[in-house]
Amino acid sequence: MAVSETGAAPPLPAHPDPQLDAILVGSLPHELSYAIGGPFHLLLPDRFDANAAAFQAVLGEFGVEGRVYYAKKANKAAAWIERCALSGTGVDVASAGELRDALGCGVRGEDIVVTGPAKADGLLRVAVLQGCLIAVDALDELERVIDVGRPARVLLRRLPPAQPHSRFGLDDGELATALVRCREAGLEMEGFSFHLSGYDPLMRAELAAELVDLCLKARAMGLRPDRISIGGGFAVDYTDAEHWERFLRDQRPEHYHAGKSFTPADFYPYHSPVAGPDALRAVLTADGLAARLREAGVQLLLEPGRALLDRAGCTVFRVQGVKDRPGYGIVTVDGSSLSLSEQWFNSEYLPDPALLPAQASPGEPYAACVGGATCLESDMVTWRKVRFPTRPAPGDLLVYPNTAGYQMDSNESPFHELALPPKIVLDTADGMTRWRLDRPPLA
Ligand SMILES: *Cc1c(COP(=O)(O)O)cnc(C)c1O
Repeated sequence: MAVSETGAAPPLPAHPDPQLDAILVGSLPHELSYAIGGPFHLLLPDRFDANAAAFQAVLGEFGVEGRVYYAKKANKAAAWIERCALSGTGVDVASAGELRDALGCGVRGEDIVVTGPAKADGLLRVAVLQGCLIAVDALDELERVIDVGRPARVLLRRLPPAQPHSRFGLDDGELATALVRCREAGLEMEGFSFHLSGYDPLMRAELAAELVDLCLKARAMGLRPDRISIGGGFAVDYTDAEHWERFLRDQRPEHYHAGKSFTPADFYPYHSPVAGPDALRAVLTADGLAARLREAGVQLLLEPGRALLDRAGCTVFRVQGVKDRPGYGIVTVDGSSLSLSEQWFNSEYLPDPALLPAQASPGEPYAACVGGATCLESDMVTWRKVRFPTRPAPGDLLVYPNTAGYQMDSNESPFHELALPPKIVLDTADGMTRWRLDRPPLA
């Protein structure tokens, strides 16, 4: 008996991706699932390159000098960093491990920016010795940079006046002290930075303009700042406006397993009319920022994470079991919600998973939530009842779209002694797509 589909949540399909779909409908996903015996992530590094180039192109459009640094925390794979090393895209790291990995994959120290608060002495020492650009977040950290006793390149990170409760950055008084210390200690003070929460381009433009003024003031003190970093926070557009608005309007607790409810404001904004490189264009247009940067001879540095990984990966689970409940079903997959990090932020990853049946079998639409193969009630890969075209069956695959940005590996652990899902890189050359392992998963 077909389970009623009326209880399904409103659909939220990811933007179509014909090129990836052509790979997914072939035998490769099933072959890989069989070989690996568990869930896996697919990575598309060509997309990463294209995203980085698109950001760089926007800087070019405005005649603004600057560069893109990939915020490494968004995904641990080596594939992205290897591409950075080859293309000259910079890398933003926040720990000794991330710095080691970037250097080990061939990224040069001068192409690395080190962010993160209260950086450990070991990280600061290597960063200074390798000529990385260090975003200084506090006065005591500045002293520890000076204590390394070698020429050091620094940015001073500004506490955003619009987010005074942020725990990051230096306030006005601290900035004044830091500038004096930079001059006394003979540091290469290259400029200023900030990292704003949220995705508002206007807020970024306003604070960037203030940092340009700070550069001019610091030059009057005899320092030579010539760059500012506006951090990350370029939105990713996962779905179209129509589906998104309908989802927000119509979703309610009955659409979720166990009557679970979410506050819409806690969802990531899965649709953004202005996203990725367009958001950079919006920043540069607002407040005449581009002209101010050019006139002041100040470069613009960006540290996007999520936006560089847009459409650069997906996550594949195998259906292990299906059971019926009144009005819907529970699909259990061969992994856990640790591989879909949004599920750990009291939120839900909303782009709909796609069903890849092992055998084509026409059937009735079927609504089901998706649970992980663990003994936790709370381990739900998808709480909501997704409308599938037919009742999933063991051996079918579920593909979660666009998961490279923050979803794949921020929270993964070998819970229940389930193996960490490997990352499979799809390399395209000479019109041929081949797969390889990224490297053993980093614990
Ligand atoms: C996390 C982070 C980023 C990247 O943010 P996205 O929203 O992924 O673009 C950039 N810079 C710093 C300092 C960060 O902490």
